[in-house]
Amino acid sequence: MSTTLNNLSVTRTSDSKLNQVDWENLPFGRVFSDHMLVMDYKDGAWQAPAILPFQNLQLHPATSAIHYGQSIFEGLKAYKNQNDEVVIFRPQSNAKRFRESCLRMCMPELPEELFLDCVAALVGVDSNWIPSQPGYSLYIRPFLFATDDFIGIKPSESYKFMIFTCPVGAYYSQPLRVKIEERYTRAAEGGVGRAKTAGNYAASLYPAKLGNKEGYHQLVWTDAKEHKYVEESGTMNIVFVKNGKIITPSEESDTILPGITKRSVLELAAHFGIPFEERKIEVTEIIDGIKDGSITDAFGAGTAATIAPIQTIGFRGQDYELPSLETREISSKIHATLDGIKAGTHSDVFNWIYKVI
Ligand SMILES: *Cc1c(COP(=O)(O)O)cnc(C)c1O
Repeated sequence: MSTTLNNLSVTRTSDSKLNQVDWENLPFGRVFSDHMLVMDYKDGAWQAPAILPFQNLQLHPATSAIHYGQSIFEGLKAYKNQNDEVVIFRPQSNAKRFRESCLRMCMPELPEELFLDCVAALVGVDSNWIPSQPGYSLYIRPFLFATDDFIGIKPSESYKFMIFTCPVGAYYSQPLRVKIEERYTRAAEGGVGRAKTAGNYAASLYPAKLGNKEGYHQLVWTDAKEHKYVEESGTMNIVFVKNGKIITPSEESDTILPGITKRSVLELAAHFGIPFEERKIEVTEIIDGIKDGSITDAFGAGTAATIAPIQTIGFRGQDYELPSLETREISSKIHATLDGIKAGTHSDVFNWIYKVI
Protein backbone atom coordinates (compact mmCIF):
# COMPACT_ATOMS: atom_id res chain seq x y z
CA MET A 1 0.00 0.00 0.00
CA SER A 2 1.32 3.47 0.78
CA THR A 3 5.04 3.82 1.17
CA THR A 4 5.82 7.45 1.85
CA LEU A 5 2.89 8.39 4.09
CA ASN A 6 4.60 8.02 7.44
CA ASN A 7 2.85 11.15 8.72
CA LEU A 8 -0.70 10.01 7.89
CA SER A 9 -3.19 9.96 10.76
CA VAL A 10 -6.32 7.82 10.55
CA THR A 11 -9.43 8.45 12.63
CA ARG A 12 -12.02 5.80 11.94
CA THR A 13 -15.72 6.46 12.22
CA SER A 14 -17.64 4.84 15.04
CA ASP A 15 -20.81 5.18 13.00
CA SER A 16 -20.36 3.36 9.68
CA LYS A 17 -23.07 3.96 7.09
CA LEU A 18 -22.17 0.82 5.19
CA ASN A 19 -25.23 -1.19 6.24
CA GLN A 20 -27.55 1.63 5.10
CA VAL A 21 -26.51 1.40 1.45
CA ASP A 22 -29.04 0.15 -1.08
CA TRP A 23 -26.60 -1.71 -3.34
CA GLU A 24 -29.26 -2.42 -5.96
CA ASN A 25 -29.91 1.27 -6.42
CA LEU A 26 -26.75 3.38 -6.45
CA PRO A 27 -27.35 6.74 -8.11
CA PHE A 28 -24.01 8.07 -9.42
CA GLY A 29 -22.28 10.42 -6.98
CA ARG A 30 -24.92 10.51 -4.23
CA VAL A 31 -23.70 7.79 -1.88
CA PHE A 32 -20.51 8.58 0.02
CA SER A 33 -18.17 6.18 1.80
CA ASP A 34 -17.36 6.46 5.51
CA HIS A 35 -14.08 8.39 5.30
CA MET A 36 -12.35 11.24 3.53
CA LEU A 37 -8.77 12.40 3.27
CA VAL A 38 -7.72 15.98 4.00
CA MET A 39 -4.29 17.50 3.50
CA ASP A 40 -3.70 21.24 3.82
CA TYR A 41 -1.07 23.30 2.05
CA LYS A 42 0.23 26.30 3.99
CA ASP A 43 3.47 28.16 4.71
CA GLY A 44 4.81 26.82 1.44
CA ALA A 45 4.47 23.13 2.34
CA TRP A 46 2.08 20.18 2.29
CA GLN A 47 0.97 19.41 5.84
CA ALA A 48 0.36 15.94 7.29
CA PRO A 49 -2.55 14.15 5.60
CA ALA A 50 -5.42 12.88 7.72
CA ILE A 51 -8.14 10.33 7.05
CA LEU A 52 -11.25 11.36 8.96
CA PRO A 53 -14.88 10.32 9.21
CA PHE A 54 -16.79 11.82 6.25
CA GLN A 55 -18.09 15.18 7.41
CA ASN A 56 -18.99 18.71 6.37
CA LEU A 57 -16.39 21.44 5.96
CA GLN A 58 -16.40 24.79 7.67
CA LEU A 59 -15.30 27.58 5.36
CA HIS A 60 -14.70 31.30 5.73
CA PRO A 61 -17.15 33.25 3.52
CA ALA A 62 -14.20 34.83 1.67
CA THR A 63 -12.69 31.43 0.80
CA SER A 64 -10.83 32.25 -2.37
CA ALA A 65 -11.93 29.23 -4.45
CA ILE A 66 -15.59 30.22 -4.13
CA HIS A 67 -14.96 33.69 -5.53
CA TYR A 68 -12.14 33.23 -8.02
CA GLY A 69 -12.29 29.58 -8.94
CA GLN A 70 -8.86 28.14 -8.18
CA SER A 71 -10.24 24.63 -7.96
CA ILE A 72 -9.25 21.41 -9.73
CA PHE A 73 -10.30 17.77 -9.51
CA GLU A 74 -9.72 14.25 -10.77
CA GLY A 75 -11.93 11.21 -11.26
CA LEU A 76 -10.77 7.61 -11.19
CA LYS A 77 -12.08 4.22 -10.12
CA ALA A 78 -11.13 1.35 -7.81
CA TYR A 79 -12.41 -2.17 -8.44
CA LYS A 80 -12.61 -5.48 -6.63
CA ASN A 81 -11.33 -7.93 -9.19
CA GLN A 82 -12.25 -11.59 -9.55
CA ASN A 83 -9.56 -12.56 -7.00
CA ASP A 84 -11.02 -10.11 -4.47
CA GLU A 85 -8.01 -7.82 -4.86
CA VAL A 86 -8.48 -4.05 -4.65
CA VAL A 87 -7.12 -2.41 -7.78
CA ILE A 88 -7.14 1.06 -9.34
CA PHE A 89 -7.03 1.75 -13.08
CA ARG A 90 -3.99 3.82 -14.17
CA PRO A 91 -3.89 6.19 -11.16
CA GLN A 92 -0.39 7.33 -12.11
CA SER A 93 -1.93 9.08 -15.12
CA ASN A 94 -4.42 10.90 -12.89
CA ALA A 95 -1.56 11.94 -10.59
CA LYS A 96 0.32 13.41 -13.54
CA ARG A 97 -2.74 15.21 -14.93
CA PHE A 98 -3.56 16.58 -11.47
CA ARG A 99 -0.06 18.03 -11.19
CA GLU A 100 -0.45 19.60 -14.64
CA SER A 101 -3.82 21.09 -13.64
CA CYS A 102 -2.12 22.54 -10.52
CA LEU A 103 0.49 24.23 -12.71
CA ARG A 104 -2.04 25.80 -15.09
CA MET A 105 -4.21 27.10 -12.26
CA CYS A 106 -1.24 28.55 -10.39
CA MET A 107 -1.66 26.12 -7.50
CA PRO A 108 1.19 24.32 -5.69
CA GLU A 109 2.09 21.13 -7.54
CA LEU A 110 1.05 18.03 -5.66
CA PRO A 111 3.89 15.48 -6.05
CA GLU A 112 2.62 12.49 -8.03
CA GLU A 113 3.83 9.96 -5.43
CA LEU A 114 1.96 11.82 -2.70
CA PHE A 115 -1.25 11.91 -4.78
CA LEU A 116 -0.98 8.16 -5.37
CA ASP A 117 -0.23 7.31 -1.76
CA CYS A 118 -3.15 9.42 -0.52
CA VAL A 119 -5.56 7.76 -2.98
CA ALA A 120 -4.31 4.28 -2.07
CA ALA A 121 -4.52 4.99 1.68
CA LEU A 122 -8.14 6.18 1.53
CA VAL A 123 -9.22 3.33 -0.75
CA GLY A 124 -7.51 0.93 1.66
CA VAL A 125 -9.42 2.30 4.66
CA ASP A 126 -12.79 2.15 2.84
CA SER A 127 -12.08 -0.99 0.80
CA ASN A 128 -15.24 -2.66 2.10
CA TRP A 129 -17.17 0.08 0.23
CA ILE A 130 -15.99 -1.27 -3.13
CA PRO A 131 -18.85 -3.25 -4.67
CA SER A 132 -17.80 -6.54 -6.24
CA GLN A 133 -20.65 -7.01 -8.73
CA PRO A 134 -19.50 -6.88 -12.35
CA GLY A 135 -19.39 -3.32 -13.66
CA TYR A 136 -19.61 -1.78 -10.17
CA SER A 137 -16.75 0.27 -8.75
CA LEU A 138 -15.67 2.86 -6.23
CA TYR A 139 -15.48 6.28 -7.86
CA ILE A 140 -12.62 8.31 -6.37
CA ARG A 141 -12.76 12.11 -6.37
CA PRO A 142 -9.52 13.91 -5.44
CA PHE A 143 -9.71 17.73 -5.49
CA LEU A 144 -7.75 20.81 -4.51
CA PHE A 145 -9.07 24.29 -3.84
CA ALA A 146 -7.81 27.68 -2.67
CA THR A 147 -8.58 28.52 0.96
CA ASP A 148 -7.14 32.00 1.59
CA ASP A 149 -9.81 34.13 3.31
CA PHE A 150 -8.98 37.25 1.37
CA ILE A 151 -10.87 39.26 -1.22
CA GLY A 152 -8.27 40.13 -3.81
CA ILE A 153 -7.18 38.54 -7.03
CA LYS A 154 -3.92 36.72 -6.62
CA PRO A 155 -2.92 33.09 -6.27
CA SER A 156 -3.99 31.82 -2.87
CA GLU A 157 -1.24 30.92 -0.41
CA SER A 158 -3.22 28.17 1.30
CA TYR A 159 -5.07 25.21 -0.19
CA LYS A 160 -6.98 22.13 0.82
CA PHE A 161 -6.44 18.79 -0.92
CA MET A 162 -9.19 16.28 -0.30
CA ILE A 163 -10.38 12.90 -1.51
CA PHE A 164 -13.72 11.22 -1.03
CA THR A 165 -15.16 8.14 -2.68
CA CYS A 166 -18.58 6.97 -3.90
CA PRO A 167 -19.66 3.40 -4.62
CA VAL A 168 -21.24 3.43 -8.09
CA GLY A 169 -23.24 0.94 -10.09
CA ALA A 170 -22.80 -0.30 -13.62
CA TYR A 171 -23.18 2.59 -16.00
CA TYR A 172 -25.79 1.60 -18.58
CA SER A 173 -25.71 4.61 -20.81
CA GLN A 174 -28.42 4.72 -23.42
CA PRO A 175 -27.03 5.36 -26.89
CA LEU A 176 -26.38 9.09 -26.98
CA ARG A 177 -28.05 11.77 -29.02
CA VAL A 178 -25.49 14.58 -29.35
CA LYS A 179 -25.58 17.98 -31.03
CA ILE A 180 -22.71 19.72 -32.79
CA GLU A 181 -22.37 23.05 -30.95
CA GLU A 182 -21.47 25.96 -33.24
CA ARG A 183 -22.18 28.98 -31.05
CA TYR A 184 -20.89 28.33 -27.52
CA THR A 185 -17.36 27.27 -26.67
CA ARG A 186 -15.97 24.91 -24.03
CA ALA A 187 -12.33 25.91 -24.42
CA ALA A 188 -10.29 28.35 -26.47
CA GLU A 189 -6.60 28.12 -27.34
CA GLY A 190 -4.58 29.68 -24.56
CA GLY A 191 -7.40 29.04 -22.09
CA VAL A 192 -7.84 26.35 -19.45
CA GLY A 193 -9.56 23.57 -21.43
CA ARG A 194 -6.66 21.20 -20.87
CA ALA A 195 -6.97 21.50 -17.08
CA LYS A 196 -9.61 19.64 -15.07
CA THR A 197 -10.69 22.86 -13.40
CA ALA A 198 -14.12 23.60 -11.93
CA GLY A 199 -15.04 26.59 -14.10
CA ASN A 200 -14.88 24.61 -17.34
CA TYR A 201 -17.89 22.62 -16.19
CA ALA A 202 -19.82 25.67 -14.97
CA ALA A 203 -19.29 27.27 -18.39
CA SER A 204 -20.68 24.22 -20.17
CA LEU A 205 -23.97 24.06 -18.25
CA TYR A 206 -25.95 26.73 -20.08
CA PRO A 207 -25.24 25.56 -23.64
CA ALA A 208 -25.80 21.95 -22.50
CA LYS A 209 -29.18 22.97 -21.09
CA LEU A 210 -30.16 24.51 -24.43
CA GLY A 211 -29.11 21.28 -26.13
CA ASN A 212 -31.18 19.22 -23.67
CA LYS A 213 -34.23 21.33 -24.52
CA GLU A 214 -33.77 20.36 -28.15
CA GLY A 215 -33.70 16.68 -27.16
CA TYR A 216 -29.95 16.01 -27.07
CA HIS A 217 -28.13 14.37 -24.16
CA GLN A 218 -24.85 16.13 -24.79
CA LEU A 219 -23.06 18.60 -27.01
CA VAL A 220 -20.15 17.97 -29.31
CA TRP A 221 -17.84 20.90 -28.69
CA THR A 222 -16.07 22.46 -31.64
CA ASP A 223 -13.04 24.76 -31.80
CA ALA A 224 -13.58 28.29 -30.47
CA LYS A 225 -12.21 30.11 -33.52
CA GLU A 226 -14.17 28.68 -36.46
CA HIS A 227 -16.47 26.01 -34.96
CA LYS A 228 -15.15 23.87 -37.75
CA TYR A 229 -13.32 21.07 -35.94
CA VAL A 230 -14.70 18.51 -33.50
CA GLU A 231 -13.10 18.58 -30.04
CA GLU A 232 -14.94 16.71 -27.25
CA SER A 233 -18.36 15.36 -26.37
CA GLY A 234 -19.83 16.68 -23.12
CA THR A 235 -17.24 15.78 -20.51
CA MET A 236 -15.82 12.91 -22.53
CA ASN A 237 -13.31 12.64 -25.34
CA ILE A 238 -14.80 11.73 -28.70
CA VAL A 239 -13.72 8.91 -30.99
CA PHE A 240 -14.94 7.78 -34.43
CA VAL A 241 -14.34 4.80 -36.69
CA LYS A 242 -13.93 5.67 -40.37
CA ASN A 243 -13.28 2.96 -42.98
CA GLY A 244 -12.12 0.61 -40.23
CA LYS A 245 -9.69 3.16 -38.76
CA ILE A 246 -10.09 4.87 -35.39
CA ILE A 247 -9.89 8.66 -35.64
CA THR A 248 -9.94 11.13 -32.73
CA PRO A 249 -9.09 14.83 -32.32
CA SER A 250 -5.41 15.29 -31.44
CA GLU A 251 -4.44 16.87 -28.14
CA GLU A 252 -1.92 19.20 -29.75
CA SER A 253 -3.87 22.32 -28.89
CA ASP A 254 -4.61 23.06 -25.24
CA THR A 255 -8.38 22.90 -25.72
CA ILE A 256 -8.84 19.16 -25.23
CA LEU A 257 -8.70 17.35 -21.90
CA PRO A 258 -6.11 14.59 -22.23
CA GLY A 259 -8.33 11.67 -21.27
CA ILE A 260 -6.95 8.44 -19.81
CA THR A 261 -9.81 6.34 -21.21
CA LYS A 262 -9.20 7.64 -24.74
CA ARG A 263 -5.46 7.02 -24.38
CA SER A 264 -6.24 3.47 -23.26
CA VAL A 265 -8.54 2.98 -26.27
CA LEU A 266 -5.73 4.03 -28.62
CA GLU A 267 -3.12 1.89 -26.88
CA LEU A 268 -5.43 -1.13 -27.11
CA ALA A 269 -6.08 -0.33 -30.78
CA ALA A 270 -2.32 -0.46 -31.38
CA HIS A 271 -2.15 -3.74 -29.44
CA PHE A 272 -4.89 -5.29 -31.62
CA GLY A 273 -3.40 -3.93 -34.84
CA ILE A 274 -6.36 -1.61 -35.43
CA PRO A 275 -5.13 1.49 -37.29
CA PHE A 276 -5.74 4.86 -35.62
CA GLU A 277 -5.07 8.54 -36.21
CA GLU A 278 -5.02 11.53 -33.85
CA ARG A 279 -5.56 14.61 -35.95
CA LYS A 280 -7.87 17.53 -36.65
CA ILE A 281 -11.34 16.33 -37.65
CA GLU A 282 -13.73 18.64 -39.48
CA VAL A 283 -17.40 18.52 -38.60
CA THR A 284 -18.17 18.10 -42.32
CA GLU A 285 -15.92 15.02 -42.50
CA ILE A 286 -18.12 13.39 -39.85
CA ILE A 287 -21.43 14.43 -41.39
CA ASP A 288 -20.36 13.44 -44.92
CA GLY A 289 -18.97 10.17 -43.53
CA ILE A 290 -22.24 9.28 -41.85
CA LYS A 291 -24.07 10.05 -45.11
CA ASP A 292 -21.80 7.93 -47.30
CA GLY A 293 -21.43 5.14 -44.74
CA SER A 294 -17.69 5.50 -44.16
CA ILE A 295 -18.19 6.56 -40.51
CA THR A 296 -19.45 3.41 -38.81
CA ASP A 297 -19.00 4.20 -35.13
CA ALA A 298 -18.83 7.16 -32.75
CA PHE A 299 -18.45 7.11 -28.99
CA GLY A 300 -17.52 9.16 -25.97
CA ALA A 301 -14.60 7.94 -23.82
CA GLY A 302 -14.34 8.77 -20.12
CA THR A 303 -13.94 7.22 -16.68
CA ALA A 304 -17.63 7.26 -15.72
CA ALA A 305 -19.03 5.31 -18.70
CA THR A 306 -15.75 3.98 -20.17
CA ILE A 307 -17.28 3.93 -23.67
CA ALA A 308 -20.60 5.66 -24.38
CA PRO A 309 -21.91 4.86 -27.88
CA ILE A 310 -23.29 7.76 -29.90
CA GLN A 311 -26.39 6.92 -31.95
CA THR A 312 -27.46 10.29 -33.37
CA ILE A 313 -25.54 13.46 -34.27
CA GLY A 314 -27.54 16.65 -34.70
CA PHE A 315 -26.08 19.30 -37.00
CA ARG A 316 -27.83 22.52 -38.13
CA GLY A 317 -31.29 21.21 -37.34
CA GLN A 318 -30.85 17.83 -39.00
CA ASP A 319 -30.30 14.48 -37.25
CA TYR A 320 -27.79 12.00 -38.66
CA GLU A 321 -28.10 8.36 -37.55
CA LEU A 322 -25.12 6.07 -37.00
CA PRO A 323 -25.28 2.30 -37.56
CA SER A 324 -26.89 0.20 -34.81
CA LEU A 325 -24.85 -0.75 -31.74
CA GLU A 326 -24.66 -4.46 -32.67
CA THR A 327 -22.51 -3.60 -35.68
CA ARG A 328 -19.81 -1.82 -33.69
CA GLU A 329 -17.17 -4.50 -33.48
CA ILE A 330 -14.14 -2.32 -32.85
CA SER A 331 -15.50 -0.34 -29.91
CA SER A 332 -17.21 -3.43 -28.43
CA LYS A 333 -13.95 -5.37 -28.49
CA ILE A 334 -12.00 -2.51 -26.90
CA HIS A 335 -14.70 -1.91 -24.29
CA ALA A 336 -14.81 -5.60 -23.34
CA THR A 337 -11.01 -5.70 -23.08
CA LEU A 338 -10.93 -2.65 -20.82
CA ASP A 339 -13.59 -4.19 -18.57
CA GLY A 340 -11.69 -7.48 -18.56
CA ILE A 341 -8.41 -5.86 -17.54
CA LYS A 342 -10.15 -4.10 -14.63
CA ALA A 343 -11.94 -7.28 -13.54
CA GLY A 344 -8.79 -9.38 -13.82
CA THR A 345 -10.27 -11.67 -16.48
CA HIS A 346 -8.03 -10.26 -19.25
CA SER A 347 -4.26 -10.11 -18.89
CA ASP A 348 -3.01 -6.67 -17.91
CA VAL A 349 -0.86 -6.33 -21.01
CA PHE A 350 0.14 -2.72 -20.37
CA ASN A 351 0.55 -2.83 -16.60
CA TRP A 352 -2.41 -0.49 -16.09
CA ILE A 353 -3.57 -2.09 -12.85
CA TYR A 354 -2.32 -0.63 -9.57
CA LYS A 355 -2.87 -3.04 -6.72
CA VAL A 356 -3.86 -1.48 -3.38
CA ILE A 357 -4.54 -4.66 -1.38
C1 LIG B 1 -12.37 13.96 -17.29
C2 LIG B 1 -12.66 14.40 -18.66
C3 LIG B 1 -12.50 13.56 -19.78
C4 LIG B 1 -12.18 12.10 -19.69
O1 LIG B 1 -11.00 11.80 -19.04
P1 LIG B 1 -10.77 10.35 -18.43
O2 LIG B 1 -9.38 10.44 -17.90
O3 LIG B 1 -10.88 9.37 -19.55
O4 LIG B 1 -11.81 10.13 -17.40
C5 LIG B 1 -12.69 14.10 -21.05
N1 LIG B 1 -13.05 15.38 -21.21
C6 LIG B 1 -13.25 16.21 -20.16
C7 LIG B 1 -13.65 17.61 -20.40
C8 LIG B 1 -13.06 15.73 -18.86
O5 LIG B 1 -13.28 16.54 -17.82
